Amino acid sequence: MTIVEAGNRIDSNTILYGVIGNPIRHSKSPIMMNRAFRETGINGVYTAFHITSDRIKDFAAGVRAMGIRGINVTIPHKLDIMAVLDDIDAGAQAIGAVNTIVNDDGKLIGYNTDGIGYVRSLKEEAEPVLAGKRIVVIGAGGAARGIVYALSAEQPARITIANRSLDRAKELANTFKDKAEIEAVANESLQDACQQADIVINTTSIGMYPNMDAVPIDAQWLKPGAVASDLIYNPLKTKFLQQAEQRGCRIHGGLGMFINQGAFAFEYWTGRPAPVAAMRETVLAALQS
Ligand code: NAP
Repeated sequence: MTIVEAGNRIDSNTILYGVIGNPIRHSKSPIMMNRAFRETGINGVYTAFHITSDRIKDFAAGVRAMGIRGINVTIPHKLDIMAVLDDIDAGAQAIGAVNTIVNDDGKLIGYNTDGIGYVRSLKEEAEPVLAGKRIVVIGAGGAARGIVYALSAEQPARITIANRSLDRAKELANTFKDKAEIEAVANESLQDACQQADIVINTTSIGMYPNMDAVPIDAQWLKPGAVASDLIYNPLKTKFLQQAEQRGCRIHGGLGMFINQGAFAFEYWTGRPAPVAAMRETVLAALQS
């Protein structure tokens, strides 16, 4: 979206939204969200704020003072933002991170839409039924936490988490052990787990630009017909997904997660369904340009 297009719509009733991070100038959220406002006719403008960690408190005061309605939060502020909010949704609390803030008349409420955005995308684009499925999650970082939380609500047969640092996988499995059948395994057991899995999800950064030749596992471990899913969307089709496709798997890339985490945020802020197809079109065009 150009400044001219945004400017055409801005008046005294325009509601402000934005994303904070450090760095932030690479973010595709502003073009995606401004397209969503245009598409739905909502009088809103969404911009990117470069906020350093020492200004988080000031930023929250600014949001309250200026009546900014909604904020997305990205690296490195997903944890430290929690200390300046008035309320945190139970899911975000369990995940331990906030990526979306709703400003309700000065009360700042934190949510996490990463995991639910991922699961909505997985169901829409790759596998509509997650109940009864055996799922392997590779990695146990911030994104994995949101995903395991959201997958736990889908009645999978089992979620197996493997991570380079086993302790982190164990801690994650333990956090959600009351919600689903979850186990943590060492990387040495990953081959076995993948051979039995219906869905294998890479939540690590292995294969992300610029290290695009790296893969998290050998695709020969996958069952043909299983779903191979990758959170990475730069590149859109990672080496892991290319090899899984050659193996006869259904593949699912990370773009849908990005779109849908934004779609949930849009819905929390506006109470309206997000124009997901238009949002995807805009981000895809930006990524390919
Ligand atoms: P994070 O919290 O830093 O976690 C990184 C994870 O990757 C950890 O499990 C880490 O293992 C593992 N890892 C990193 N390098 C590795 C290596 N060389 N070998 C083995 N394991 C390695 O990061 P995050 O926020 O969870 O993000 C993870 C990925 O998801 C990134 O690629 C990010 O771009 C992507 N992501 C996508 C979306 C989306 O909207 N599509 C949203 C969020 C994140 P250790 O615990 O052992 O360090």
